[in-house]
Amino acid sequence: MAKTSVKGVTITKHGKYKAGITIQNQLIHLGYYDTLEEAAKARKEAEKKYRNRPAPRNRPAPRRVNYTDLSGRRFGRLEVIRLERIGENGQPYWLCKCDCNNYCSVAGNNLMSKQTRSCGCLRRERSRNFALKNRESLNEAIREGVKKYHEENPYVALKRKKRADNKSGVVGVRFNKKIKKWVANITVNGKQIYLGSYEDKADAVQARKAAEEKYHKPLLEDNDNE
Ligand SMILES: [Zn+2]
Repeated sequence: MAKTSVKGVTITKHGKYKAGITIQNQLIHLGYYDTLEEAAKARKEAEKKYRNRPAPRNRPAPRRVNYTDLSGRRFGRLEVIRLERIGENGQPYWLCKCDCNNYCSVAGNNLMSKQTRSCGCLRRERSRNFALKNRESLNEAIREGVKKYHEENPYVALKRKKRADNKSGVVGVRFNKKIKKWVANITVNGKQIYLGSYEDKADAVQARKAAEEKYHKPLLEDNDNE
């Protein structure tokens, strides 16, 4: 399903124009049509009917311009089926069928300048191929980057090791090198409570165990009662 230059009108795989309108988040199907004009008319009538807006004032007719008939011509993957409409700027829009079977509407000057050469599938394929081709080199670059980062920041690795060394083996008890004492903490409802610092590791562990009894046990019992 491809968009057209008219709001609410799309082109189906079979080259039919499908009109619809969304009212209060509800999509109302307005039917399939052979031409964009018919579908646009259905859409306009629905807008008048459902949205109750005043009809727009007469716009000046599109400026007539001379253009070459591009019907049957091929531009990249696009084959021009027929003239779809003349835009307000006098620019002709052509209904095209892409090699991938999608229909699309393309301004004449975009075809002639070779700016548009597919329904959009060409660009999608290119970016996919690019990603595939570069995946391995990208992964390599990431690995290199990580290695480089660790070489330039040796303290990152040191820090990790230090943390591990400070562990007491008991949750909430750590050795603080600065004060050369064992520090006990406990987290209750997301908040950390300081339980003191101790020369003796056993005292810090004791403080932690007592705090667990005090703070965590009632919480566990509360949960059991639920
Ligand atoms: Zn295509």
